Amino acid sequence: MKQQSYSFQFVEFVPKVLEDGVLYVSMTYATASHRCFCGCSMKVVTPLSPTDWRLTFDGDSLSLHPSIGNWSYPCRSHYILRDNHVVWAGPISSADILAIRNTDVQDKRRYYNRHQRAQSSTTLMAVTSSTKKDTRRGWRRALDWFRI
Ligand SMILES: [Zn+2]
Repeated sequence: MKQQSYSFQFVEFVPKVLEDGVLYVSMTYATASHRCFCGCSMKVVTPLSPTDWRLTFDGDSLSLHPSIGNWSYPCRSHYILRDNHVVWAGPISSADILAIRNTDVQDKRRYYNRHQRAQSSTTLMAVTSSTKKDTRRGWRRALDWFRI
């Protein structure tokens, strides 16, 4: 039976047996898990990250963004979890699925590239400042030599 609404539980570890209609959220492991809301009872794990799903909790209700598309499951269900309600979305064609997967890969690549670039510029700065320090030490050494 298709779920029209869901409740949620904040847990550290997601239990082995998931209850129907419950979204389990582990902040420790940055994941949300539930049994497919179409009723097929497949376990759906959604990692929470800037390039995966984002969770919104307003103190009362919980939402996940973007929508959940269970393309690799036989049910191929597609729904949006918004404010504790399951909004059923239409079926998606294989071409659309491929397009979404490609966008996902591109999003991740863009995100990690940006992240890596930020890291390498920090490394570059560290190298530059240590080079400066070495030069200064070199000068001091030269001055010491003059003083002798
Ligand atoms: Zn399903």
